Amino acid sequence: MPQIKQLPSHLINQIAAGEVVERPASVIKELVENSLDAGASHIQVEVESGGMKLIRIIDNGCGISRQDLPLALSRHATSKIRNLDDLESINSLGFRGEALPSIASVSRLSISSATESDTHGWKLEVTADAEIEPANQPKGTNIEVNDLFYNVPARKKFLRTERTEFNHIDGLFKTLALSHPQVAMTLSHNRKTVYQLPAAVDEHSMTQRLGRLCGNEFSNSVVAIDVVVEDIKLQGWVALPTYSRSQADMQYFFVNQRMVRDKVISHAVRQSYQDVLFHGRHAAFVLYLELDPKQVDVNVHPQKHEVRFRNSRQVHDFLYRSLHRALADVQPEQQLASPAFALNTGGLSAENMVTQQNRLDFQKEIPANRFAQFSQSSSPAQIHEKMESYAQLMNPVDTTTGEVPAEQSLTPPLGYALAQFKGIYILAENDGGLVLVDMHAAHERIVYERLKTNAEAEGIISQPLLVPPTINVSQSEAELVEKQGNDINQLGLKLERLSHEQIRVREIPALLKNANIEQLVRDVLSDLMEHGESRRIQESINGILATMACHGSVRANHQLSITEMNAVLRDIEQTERSGQCNHGRPTWKQLTLQQLDKFFLRGQ
Ligand code: ADP
Ligand code: MG
Repeated sequence: MPQIKQLPSHLINQIAAGEVVERPASVIKELVENSLDAGASHIQVEVESGGMKLIRIIDNGCGISRQDLPLALSRHATSKIRNLDDLESINSLGFRGEALPSIASVSRLSISSATESDTHGWKLEVTADAEIEPANQPKGTNIEVNDLFYNVPARKKFLRTERTEFNHIDGLFKTLALSHPQVAMTLSHNRKTVYQLPAAVDEHSMTQRLGRLCGNEFSNSVVAIDVVVEDIKLQGWVALPTYSRSQADMQYFFVNQRMVRDKVISHAVRQSYQDVLFHGRHAAFVLYLELDPKQVDVNVHPQKHEVRFRNSRQVHDFLYRSLHRALADVQPEQQLASPAFALNTGGLSAENMVTQQNRLDFQKEIPANRFAQFSQSSSPAQIHEKMESYAQLMNPVDTTTGEVPAEQSLTPPLGYALAQFKGIYILAENDGGLVLVDMHAAHERIVYERLKTNAEAEGIISQPLLVPPTINVSQSEAELVEKQGNDINQLGLKLERLSHEQIRVREIPALLKNANIEQLVRDVLSDLMEHGESRRIQESINGILATMACHGSVRANHQLSITEMNAVLRDIEQTERSGQCNHGRPTWKQLTLQQLDKFFLRGQ
């Protein structure tokens, strides 16, 4: 039988390094987080050979005193928590006291540091006979990591080319720079400056930083988010759905300024874009969630990529509602205004907060008068009649809104129709110049939103199944059916538990009569198990309504009168999510006079 032996501490550190130090970028993450925790307002990152040869981090934070220097390098030594209470409400990025000793065990590391009260700094070079020496060091810390993995050849083999490692560093640096916009940061590679980011102290500098890190195209097509409900706050920017990405590579989500990847969060975000994003495309956003640290458990992952919310349902709901509303609220006036508009609303002015909070009442918008007749005819039995009313809703254009209001002299955002072009586009003139509208795409969205408003006003209408199918489920799902019957009924479903692991489907939403019922019910139950709620039914219904809208809206080559075209323009202005059709394509585009002038070289 092999003998049990205590491992030497150096080996313990190297094992721990396996968890936090995967590659140069992870070293930089740990070190910059330390600088941020130290309250630095300026952080300089220098790397050579993709960080494999050298990583140097220079900050102007609080520094480390002479007596603490050796401690900083010992395992499980931290200045950030003292007891269990601290662990339950963590305000710092680090707290495990593992990074420095781990990094020191797989590289040649040296630290110079000076605190406010020091007249000069102290330097500690980690070697077998380490001595602390005086150093010429201003207040702050300077950490140098040379030859990463020089003593762990097995890990060194896993490092990739200089270019690949630097790409990881670049991505990570962007994340860090976005997480703390108020901190000035620079990054250089092989002595060449890659980023030089001043502290973002106002909207202008924030826009610049955003543009620098995410591209100007992104910063020019964002909507600002700024929502506070009780003690939870969401701020940041989401790109308009028309600026979507083929990959999920521009999705930054910070919880108390810590970048996280979290299932609850991504689910909520995906759902809020669900209705406006072109199939297979990904949303782009930079979002900051702030809540009481007691409400988040960050101690679930060594690199702290993941968090756990104490009340994940509340967080999910808050995110979904805030983003969904923000995207729904994008109206032509806002899209027409340049990014300045979006960022203007980014500040936390009191006035702004009030309006944003008001929005969070999520009161259903009162359906416009013209729908009134439909909201009354809500007799559940007359499903057929209802379907007919849907058909009526899809009548091309309501001409009553097509007139130009007499007393209003201001040009409406999308202006007035001039003509129809090639049977596809409406040409209109507004204050800014020329507006082009994709008639079908725009009308499709209008009809779709109408159908949804109407369907929401009426509630979900269920229909009993002639042959109720039986479904085998897990015991916990069967129990859920029994216990949460009411919640399930509200989704238009009627389920009953037959036995230990069997349920029967009695009724389903009438609009979903052609759906795969078993799949739908399974998905709903798994949503309810995992998230405590399910929007799947609503989404499936929306899917049907979207198809109806697509078939019911004006087709190309349908001749419209000027009045009808104006009605379409006014409808777009009033319709939620009107910037995109149901498939996420843009519905209209502004060509400014300046753009046209430039095209014709006028005034140059
Ligand atoms: P942790 O960050 O989890 O506390 P680390 O091993 O990363 O553990 O760092 C150990 C300690 O060293 C920190 O708690 C902090 O007191 C100190 N320290 C590390 N880096 C810095 C820095 N850049 N400025 C000031 N103090 C630092
Ligand atoms: Mg740390």
